[in-house]
Amino acid sequence: MIDLIEKLEKTHSLTVEEYERLIESRSPETARILAEKAVKVRKEIYGNSVYIRGLVEVGNICRNDCLYCGIRRSNKKCERYRLNAEQILDCCREGYSLGFRTFVFQGGEDSYFSDDYICELIKTVKSECPGSAVTLSLGERSAESYKKLFEAGADRYLLRHETANKSHYEKLHPPEMSFVNRMECLNNLKKIGFQTGCGFMVGSPFQTVKNLAEDLKFIEEFKPQMCGIGPFIPHRDTPFASYEAGSAELTCYLLSVIRLISPSVLLPSTTALGTVLPNGRELGILSGANVVMPNLSPNEVRSKYELYNNKLSSGAEAAANKRELEERMNNIGYRIVSDRGDYKNI
Ligand code: SAM
Repeated sequence: MIDLIEKLEKTHSLTVEEYERLIESRSPETARILAEKAVKVRKEIYGNSVYIRGLVEVGNICRNDCLYCGIRRSNKKCERYRLNAEQILDCCREGYSLGFRTFVFQGGEDSYFSDDYICELIKTVKSECPGSAVTLSLGERSAESYKKLFEAGADRYLLRHETANKSHYEKLHPPEMSFVNRMECLNNLKKIGFQTGCGFMVGSPFQTVKNLAEDLKFIEEFKPQMCGIGPFIPHRDTPFASYEAGSAELTCYLLSVIRLISPSVLLPSTTALGTVLPNGRELGILSGANVVMPNLSPNEVRSKYELYNNKLSSGAEAAANKRELEERMNNIGYRIVSDRGDYKNI
């Protein structure tokens, strides 16, 4: 095992079979060694800074029917909403005054959020909140659409690949959704010039250790600037309601591995990790993550953006949330910084 960890540390690369062995034969001791190495690498590049991203959940209306997701089209119990441009801007203005310098617009795939609409929004945010970065997470769109959004000033785009294995992808999605298209979207985003983020759920239904190893190999080869991973958590009104949640332990282990594959990657300690374990976000940082994404969405819509059961949502105001997170990070020896937090190309 230690030979594999050292090889990974030196070459940032393993074979799929080696990744499988790294996952399968893990122990608390190997997890400790990996986390120690991951934190060392992360500190060499990003010090003890934690970047914050203000998440604005712009709407939960979605044309897709992903089997795991609480806002899937077929969930008739989901109370739908969409924020208007002024509401979205208000979230950014408040975040800006609190020191946020990245805003993430995430939502379901909804044709209301047309290219013109989003481009206008990006331009307004950029002029009202100077020095800020805009990240989009609005799902699959055409290459032309991505290009327009980039030209309007969007800096980053998050689109989790969900799984790098086509037949696993087909077990998580309805037949009309395409693995090939998702991968093509990711390639287009990168080609256009976005800082691009991929990622996957840990412990999603039907996931095998081999699938996880394939995800790691995909990350190694795709070289994303960002990578979002978090445990799968069931949602009561989806076909996967009765499946078990993914583990925080394996998520943290994989965060360390991903940091060693890609030392500069922007790696969030996710809300899903904070949902399965009360101190999950701290453990994520201590495993090598360097980003947290507090919610700036208006309080009245937060419970409606319910991707999975018991999604962590304090109900507190943005300022109080940020203070709490600051304290949590300070307690483990890190500090939240007011910075765009771009990818460092080292
Ligand atoms: N529609 C956009 C997209 O497809 O990229 C962005 C929104 S989507 C809800 C954001 C992410 O939430 C997905 O990429 C998925 O990995 C995650 N997610 C959805 N349901 C989840 C669940 N039950 N447990 C954990 N994560 C989940």
